[in-house]
Amino acid sequence: MRTLEALIKRLLSVEALRRLWQGVAPRLFYGNDRYCVVCCRHFRRFVIRRGREHLCPVCFSEPRHRNAILCLGRHAPLFSSTGLLRVLHVAPELCMMDNFSSRSHVDYVSIDLSSRLARERMDLRRLQFPDEHFDFIYCSHVLEHIREDRQAMSELFRVLKVGGLALVIVPIRTGPTIEDPAVTSPEERKALYHHPDHVRCYGDDFKERLEAIGFQVARHVATTGMPEAERRRQGINSEPLFP
Ligand SMILES: [Zn+2]
Repeated sequence: MRTLEALIKRLLSVEALRRLWQGVAPRLFYGNDRYCVVCCRHFRRFVIRRGREHLCPVCFSEPRHRNAILCLGRHAPLFSSTGLLRVLHVAPELCMMDNFSSRSHVDYVSIDLSSRLARERMDLRRLQFPDEHFDFIYCSHVLEHIREDRQAMSELFRVLKVGGLALVIVPIRTGPTIEDPAVTSPEERKALYHHPDHVRCYGDDFKERLEAIGFQVARHVATTGMPEAERRRQGINSEPLFP
């Protein structure tokens, strides 16, 4: 019980600090030159990371989060629906949690194996939801951590309604997917996949992997047709998404 109380206090304090920061940040970064589509706030510039503007100073979104929201706006009239929309968020990030769960008519649930942010502890390879349950699924930078990724994809496909939308994002490189089951140590993985926790490096055949499960796949790049100045203003990049 004492552990539970400590955990609740810690969560409350983290949330309180976050809300406090969200009140202060727009003043510290006061301006109108940049706009974050995740939290819908204007400010002077994104927070610099590795020499480039990267993080939203208010909601801490990264370019991939902003890419995803732009993709939703362009290709999914789902969120303008007045009917109840069931949303599954896999491995939730705070900025996207806020964005999804604040929309009207949304029945939101998030899952993760261990993150405290998730509403339910669940293994993506064995989802505890009925078939065709969700209208929209957001799964970003997860599959590259799962050895049995096809099993996870099958579960995503099973719980998605016919006509629903799954937005799947993974790090991707030019060329075929690199995957070697014999590579198991963090050092070897970092050398081969550029990350100690990744079990593969997806390539151009990622679309075919999803299609083999049954998904109808489109590759979306948020910056397509967008002038450079607007791309900079919204802090987005050309990482592909797979709706
Ligand atoms: Zn933001």
